[in-house]
Amino acid sequence: MSAVLRVESMSKRFGERIALAGVSFSLRRGEFVGLLGPSGAGKSTLFRCIAGLERADSGNALLGEQVLSPLHRHGGGRIAMVFQQFALVDRLSVLDNVLAGRLGAVPAWRGVLRRFSHEDRMLAMRCLERVSMLDYAQQRADRLSGGQKQRVAIARALAQKPDVILADEPIASLDPTLAGGILDLLRSIAKSSDVAVICSLHQLSFAREYSDRVIGIRAGEIVLDCDASSLDDEAAKRLYRLNATE
Ligand code: ADP
Repeated sequence: MSAVLRVESMSKRFGERIALAGVSFSLRRGEFVGLLGPSGAGKSTLFRCIAGLERADSGNALLGEQVLSPLHRHGGGRIAMVFQQFALVDRLSVLDNVLAGRLGAVPAWRGVLRRFSHEDRMLAMRCLERVSMLDYAQQRADRLSGGQKQRVAIARALAQKPDVILADEPIASLDPTLAGGILDLLRSIAKSSDVAVICSLHQLSFAREYSDRVIGIRAGEIVLDCDASSLDDEAAKRLYRLNATE
């Protein structure tokens, strides 16, 4: 199948510090990709540049044939993000948090919430059902456990009808028993909704267990791109070897 997302030679510096040094890869629909690499390798920057939250110095991200323009949050295409700290609005209900996913960037969400169409509300409910959180629709977001919050954040991503989900360390704030459930969910969304999911992870074992493919990034460069089943300990060791600049 052809690529849904193509990243071409993406580079980004912060002053003298090189965060991304010409990163290229493609994702296909239905694929669940684990993104591995030591802290500071450039994983978050890569996601932020793809999502348009940060402007890359050079290179492109293409959704199908469409070049995503920098700093236009959804670039006209559908890229949704899931974050380590969930990024829910605490005082809003679960349902309103998911509806907020129907908005572009956040300004003025408060006034706009009431104006959502019946279709949007139904879509939000279906997304909550998909993540097994329908029963919590009217509950305030800050009453939920971490695992439940991440499910709601995933429902919010789904409400954007994404082609691609970028999950930036989605399990780093969860204990291991909950973490597996979240990865299971993201994987099954990739398979059943025909979405490409790329998910940065700290633990090699989770990457091996849940990913189809693993991309390893180190000092802003891709140093590994292989089937998860062929990720051996040697490759992993090279990926995490301490970097002189860290
Ligand atoms: P990772 O997500 O793999 O931990 P990051 O993408 O957060 O890595 O960071 C990559 C590099 O870019 C690091 O050296 C980090 O210090 C630097 N960096 C990231 N964001 C900024 C920023 N806003 N200002 C300055 N340096 C940054």
